[in-house]
Amino acid sequence: KLPAYHHRVAAGVHSVGKVPLGIKRKGLRIVVTGGAGFVGSHLVDRLIARGDSVIVVDNFFTGRKENVMHHFGNPRFELIRHDVVEPLLLEVDQIYHLACPASPVHYKFNPVKTIKTNVVGTLNMLGLAKRVGARFLLTSTSEVYGDPLQHPQKETYWGNVNPIGVRSCYDEGKRTAETLTMDYHRGAGVEVRIARIFNTYGPRMCLDDGRVVSNFVAQALRKEPLTVYGDGKQTRSFQYVSDLVEGLIRLMEGEHVGPFNLGNPGEFTMLELAKVVQETIDPDARIEYRPNTEDDPHKRKPDIGRAKELLGWEPKVDLHKGLPLMVSDFRLRIFGDHKEGAT
Ligand code: NAD
Ligand code: UDP
Ligand code: UDP
Repeated sequence: KLPAYHHRVAAGVHSVGKVPLGIKRKGLRIVVTGGAGFVGSHLVDRLIARGDSVIVVDNFFTGRKENVMHHFGNPRFELIRHDVVEPLLLEVDQIYHLACPASPVHYKFNPVKTIKTNVVGTLNMLGLAKRVGARFLLTSTSEVYGDPLQHPQKETYWGNVNPIGVRSCYDEGKRTAETLTMDYHRGAGVEVRIARIFNTYGPRMCLDDGRVVSNFVAQALRKEPLTVYGDGKQTRSFQYVSDLVEGLIRLMEGEHVGPFNLGNPGEFTMLELAKVVQETIDPDARIEYRPNTEDDPHKRKPDIGRAKELLGWEPKVDLHKGLPLMVSDFRLRIFGDHKEGAT
């Protein structure tokens, strides 16, 4: 029987597979599922930079090789095209499980595939964690709170979710993924961590991802109207991606299972967000109202007291600082250089 994860890590012994226990390795071996996506690729950058070996597992549904290409040729980096709905055999110390489309447009595209990814994909990665004694981190979502009746949302809130709606493949899928995670923890002794991530933005988001920040930024740069859905009074809290990555790593390395809300408590209506985008990119950008999507949550704002207290974490980059960093990346990808199309 393998010694518990923390004993192996404390002893500097992380190997559980082909290399016999007792042989020391430099750094950890870490799988990042969904590592070619927006959040995953930023996480991979941090893990590679600190000296770990990283295996990215991705089916490229919404991820892109371009997001991780700068690591090609690094012997500590591997990229596997694989769908997590299928079983996977690897020998690793930690699993960051991110594989799942995050934008409503993408996850509604093939809802059955989304729920399979969340349920069967998570089951497979937990099976892998159990077999090799790896620590497993699930990236859950603020969507588990549904259209919340408690504001701001604390981790103790059980949520208000429509089980048969168009968003259920994602939010019920993630709720089941949380259940599986806790059942493998309680039933099989797997070391687990659960993050509930609130709306996150930053460089490398898909340009036509459909999420509000990427839509507004791409629209303002292309001189198209900003599409505000509904009356624009619904709220979200926007977190810059580097803050999230810091939170995920602290959670993985810490002693607490969670769940932990990871988000920026700064709350904006969509009209306020449009205003920040206008100030940052183009004060003349027009707003165009569109009908809202079904079951759209009216408000969302994390209570991050638990993460502050137990992980010593809080976000550092507010929207006014983070948005320009994303705009430079979008400008480059839309126009090819920083000057053309600049306002
Ligand atoms: P993303 O769509 O950019 O990345 C998801 C990645 O998973 C992509 O690279 C995609 O190709 C891959 N993937 C999807 N299905 C797969 C499958 N079946 N097998 C293998 N790979 C698969 O999204 P993101 O914003 O980087 O989100 C990453 C994770 O964080 C997701 O689990 C998401 O639910 C969670 N999350 C993100 C946010 C956010 O605002 N970005 C908020 C809450 C939760
Ligand atoms: N699994 C995997 N990789 C592994 C170990 C398991 O993909 O290294 C998958 C396995 O195929 C199964 C799931 O994880 O579908 C759950 O595995 P577990 O051992 O918990 O359950 P069982 O195989 O007994 O149903
Ligand atoms: N939204 C919008 N315009 C857009 C895209 C989205 O007004 O072009 C709104 C959407 O109705 C929702 C909010 O922005 O109220 C956040 O949507 P997003 O898809 O970014 O993420 P969600 O929090 O809904 O998963």
